[in-house]
Amino acid sequence: MKFITLFAVASLVVACGDDAPSGSGVPTAALSADLRQLREEEKLARDTYRTLADVHSTEIFPNIADSEQSHMDAVGRLLTSYAVADPVTNDARGVFQSEEFVSLYADLVAQGKSSPQSAYVVGATVEELDIRDIRVMRGRTAEPDVLAVYDRLECGSRNHLRSFVRQLSGRFEPQFLTAAEVSTIVGGANESCR
Ligand code: ZN
Ligand code: ZN
Repeated sequence: MKFITLFAVASLVVACGDDAPSGSGVPTAALSADLRQLREEEKLARDTYRTLADVHSTEIFPNIADSEQSHMDAVGRLLTSYAVADPVTNDARGVFQSEEFVSLYADLVAQGKSSPQSAYVVGATVEELDIRDIRVMRGRTAEPDVLAVYDRLECGSRNHLRSFVRQLSGRFEPQFLTAAEVSTIVGGANESCR
């Protein structure tokens, strides 16, 4: 009887998950939520750029969309290894579990369709949103494999932000990062993100 009680308590602790020690392979509730959000956020970038690539014939959108696919894949592998349900059950363009991303996708595409310049502003905005969110998420986990993916994705986003802001000849008003943060990134050289 005593064993059963102890077992029940142990199961509760595991089910709760928030106290899971680093490296246990059990994600905290915060980590699960972050990975699910990031998976859809990378899809938002990919889908937006694919749609803008259909509208404007520039090299930049297909190239960066391919990079976003690799970011989606990297987060997908983390979801698998932490046994977190993948929010992307339908890979079709513009489909998200998050209502916020559904409306953000519609707004971004509507804005970006009007001209190549508007599309570059949309691209830079998506990248600064990504960077802001990844920086916040980094403070909520100590898992080395997760942190390595965050680093790689943020590195990619910095390169993408540089590319878009360069297309705008540096004229870009940030919404999610400070002007100083953006100018530090844009002033830096392109990075190799592996
Ligand atoms: Zn990305
Ligand atoms: Zn990007």
